[in-house]
Amino acid sequence: MRKKVIVLGANFGGLTAALSVKHDLHGDVDVTVVSDRDYFLFNPSLIWLPFGKRNSSDVTFRVEPTFDKGDVDFELSAAKGIDPVSQTVTLENGKVLTYDYLVIATGTRNRGEAIEGFAENSHTITTLESAIKTGEAWKRYLDSPGDIVIGASQGASCFGAAYEFLFNTSYQLKKAGLRGKVNLTYLTSEPFLGHFGIGGMPHGEAIVGKFFKNQGITFHVNKSISTIDDGAITTTDGDVLKNSFSMIVPPFSGQSFLKELAGLADQNGFVKVKDSYQTELWDNIYAVGLAAAVTAPWKTPTPIGVPKTGFPTEQMAHVAAKNIVHQIKGELPSVTKAFADIPAVCILDAGNNGVLILAEKMFPPRKHGMLIPGPQNHLFKLAFEKYFLWKMRNGKITLP
Ligand SMILES: Cc1cc2nc3c(=O)[nH]c(=O)nc-3n(C[C@H](O)[C@H](O)[C@H](O)COP(=O)(O)OP(=O)(O)OC[C@H]3O[C@@H](n4cnc5c(N)ncnc54)[C@H](O)[C@@H]3O)c2cc1C
Repeated sequence: MRKKVIVLGANFGGLTAALSVKHDLHGDVDVTVVSDRDYFLFNPSLIWLPFGKRNSSDVTFRVEPTFDKGDVDFELSAAKGIDPVSQTVTLENGKVLTYDYLVIATGTRNRGEAIEGFAENSHTITTLESAIKTGEAWKRYLDSPGDIVIGASQGASCFGAAYEFLFNTSYQLKKAGLRGKVNLTYLTSEPFLGHFGIGGMPHGEAIVGKFFKNQGITFHVNKSISTIDDGAITTTDGDVLKNSFSMIVPPFSGQSFLKELAGLADQNGFVKVKDSYQTELWDNIYAVGLAAAVTAPWKTPTPIGVPKTGFPTEQMAHVAAKNIVHQIKGELPSVTKAFADIPAVCILDAGNNGVLILAEKMFPPRKHGMLIPGPQNHLFKLAFEKYFLWKMRNGKITLP
């Protein structure tokens, strides 16, 4: 009988894992993707959406045609429970699906409730809906400009997005004739500028610091936010940053239903995995991308998370898919790739400039690691967006 693989989530990790299993077994497997939304979202472009440089349709595509073409079934519903004994997943729409192998790629949810006033008074760009709302707030801001605070809270992990939004805000202020007339401040839980949640890079602090200096951006590192009021952010050590507009990347957690299965997830709902991306307790359940728990080899004075960006997410999905293929063929799941050893590849966009981050492994100590600043990086980012959306829409998951 053909084996059944269920993949929860249809974005970077889920789409890659589902199509890879199908591809590697030459179609001889039943794959079903379950997702609570019917579209793929290229999250990296959310840094541009609030400034009107992108709209929803520019950064999304419907996933069903992509899965149809790849002979993968698609079920539009949220998963709400996993039973590893009966090997079933229960969905919000009432269906119960059975699996031989399960891949969890359900990303994160904003844990805004960890900060008083976050939901009511702050803006963020970590979801399509929140980026659209931030765009509406930005329009209101331009009618009545004042000081701005952009930041990443304690427990946040998506620092790249905070930096990119900061630099893009600076660029937009310049275009609006407001640079130098309003204060732009970066507030972060990172222990130093350019830590990025990956321990920093050689000369990184100095290069990022130069960007800040050139653009007149002030910064506060190693900060926790205690409250966000309408017009002011207060840190736990008593700083009050008044503002007319703010964007804060909140802490993330895994999806709530993952915590209901004892032993699956850590206290924040991230799924505990081995280097094969199999879960610690169940060899036929995998987790990849943002949903997977990753532990950093350091402790920072203010707690921060580790960014699981697009590149490592795809790598984890390929490793999981290869191991499922091994298991289906009756072999041992022998492919491993520790998160710490996956290369770091990221472009930080700055509106008309940018920084390319490259390192041969995610966590130090590293042999090679560099930041390459320059306007070419903005063009790289634009090209990357077009290429990646084309690649995913067309299911070309074997391409780099
Ligand atoms: C603003 C921003 C900018 C970023 N910029 C970059 C960048 O420049 N470069 C880079 O490499 N990375 C960037 N990232 C990170 C990148 O987006 C993530 O690495 C990537 O999205 C991780 O993919 P994922 O599949 O693990 O999770 P996600 O992309 O979050 O996908 C989760 C999927 O699970 C689904 N889902 C959620 N709950 C359920 C449920 N209960 N049942 C079924 N399905 C469910 C969702 O609908 C979605 O399909 C950025 C992220 C943000 C937010």
